[in-house]
Amino acid sequence: MRPKGGIYINSKDIHSKSILTPANGLLTSSGFTFSLNPYTGCAFGCSYCYVREMPAAKYRDEEWGSYVDIKVNAASLLESEVKKAKKKDQVLSIFMSTATDPYQGIEAKTKLTRSLLEVMLSLKEDITHLMVHTRSPLVTRDIDLFQEFGEKILISMSIETDLDKMRKIFTPSAPPITARLNALKTITEAGVPTRASISPMLPLSKNVAKKFKEVTNQVALDDFFMGDGSRGRRTEQMGIRKKYEQLGLLQWYEPGAYKKVLAILEEEFDNIDVFHEQTQFRQK
Ligand code: SF4
Repeated sequence: MRPKGGIYINSKDIHSKSILTPANGLLTSSGFTFSLNPYTGCAFGCSYCYVREMPAAKYRDEEWGSYVDIKVNAASLLESEVKKAKKKDQVLSIFMSTATDPYQGIEAKTKLTRSLLEVMLSLKEDITHLMVHTRSPLVTRDIDLFQEFGEKILISMSIETDLDKMRKIFTPSAPPITARLNALKTITEAGVPTRASISPMLPLSKNVAKKFKEVTNQVALDDFFMGDGSRGRRTEQMGIRKKYEQLGLLQWYEPGAYKKVLAILEEEFDNIDVFHEQTQFRQK
């Protein structure tokens, strides 16, 4: 057991059977062919995390957010699976990660995600694209590796809101908003392609576009109705609507609520990836 704030996280080593999962649904329509999850479980335990409702998490005895399994054989699996995919002429456009955060607190010790980046760098010619999606400032540790990927990589920092009081309500164990913004700025200034992902959109301020523009050149926008992979059904089942209702924030929960935010973002950004419209890049 390892402490996370006042809570204890169960972590254990596991041996995975495979590490690259063929993409489907929204991932495929966004151009990805595989997802890559170094861990099972996630210590950030966001209240709206759609993974909670997936069978492997739903029917597990431990509560989502209280465990992290470490896939100790991930690097060797990745090396052989990349080579195998290449032999089959498969495109390797990889999203890391869809069902965990690759920069869990425990990553500081295990360096598992870093080892996967090293494997992918050693096979860089075979990798078409890599998206690293995280909420954690720990991601700055690997800037030296990101730089070696050149334009093949995009670091996507999930910043669902610019208001830390909203983070504290919906995802209190995830890193503070300012820490995420600062991390993203550091990576952008190091010459690595980045974007801020409002994913999923939480209530935010009118200053969000200006704040994000200071740290990156790209932004993505996603809401509960597309981002949870079930057009909002999973999110509804988790009681998130009720939470919005209790907080008097229902106007932020409506399917069209993202349009107000999109208008604000368009004042500052040229390229906006709007998941809701299933459009890869929406250009002004
Ligand atoms: S960081 Fe991502 S994977 Fe982890 S709990 Fe939050 S939404 Fe789920």
